[in-house]
Amino acid sequence: MIIAVDGPAAAGKGTIARALARHFGFHFLDTGALYRMVGLAAIRAGGEPITTPAAIAAALSLDPASFTDADLRNEKVGAAASIVAVIPEVRAALLEFQRSFARTPPGAVLDGRDIGTVVCPDAHAKLFITASAEVRARRRQLELGATDYEAVLADIRARDARDSQRTAAPLVAATDAVTLDTSEMDINAAVAAAVATVEARRLP
Ligand code: C5P
Repeated sequence: MIIAVDGPAAAGKGTIARALARHFGFHFLDTGALYRMVGLAAIRAGGEPITTPAAIAAALSLDPASFTDADLRNEKVGAAASIVAVIPEVRAALLEFQRSFARTPPGAVLDGRDIGTVVCPDAHAKLFITASAEVRARRRQLELGATDYEAVLADIRARDARDSQRTAAPLVAATDAVTLDTSEMDINAAVAAAVATVEARRLP
């Protein structure tokens, strides 16, 4: 069984996807981490601004060992990820890894931006997790311990615009996805709603 969890930055999809994987005993892949790895490797190899050839070279020689790199979670690397993510060759280089992970028995939960639309269009259950930009910025600010709320909100809006307006696999809910707006939910309520949605899709 494949569960696709898509949505914008800081909507809660990582937490929800991990909780789904735990609940169902499935494997979990944070596909954003793949794009973050490419962004980080491209900066380290070629500096900034990131060039398209540096990003493609980084995607083609991705080292899964760098999954544990402490710098992966910082905001600068998140922004770099969304810059390399617009490059079709980068997306193509990451596609097979994601698809073969999704086929791992007994099942897998993948979170990202295009799992239900491009990576696994045949996923058994698709969730689109969203929340208002203001709520997401507040959550991200708390997570980062950042002082400047307006700066975090501006980053979130810039990332939303880049992810939604790109030509290659833009951020959009699959037509058969169930949308969960977590703006007014705490994490326990959001996870419970996600589990109930997936349960309803499971074969008897
Ligand atoms: O989810 P996370 O914030 O770690 O993703 C970082 C960036 O990677 C996103 O802003 C997006 O541009 C890109 N991404 C993507 N497709 C995915 C996952 C992430 O384009 N499946």
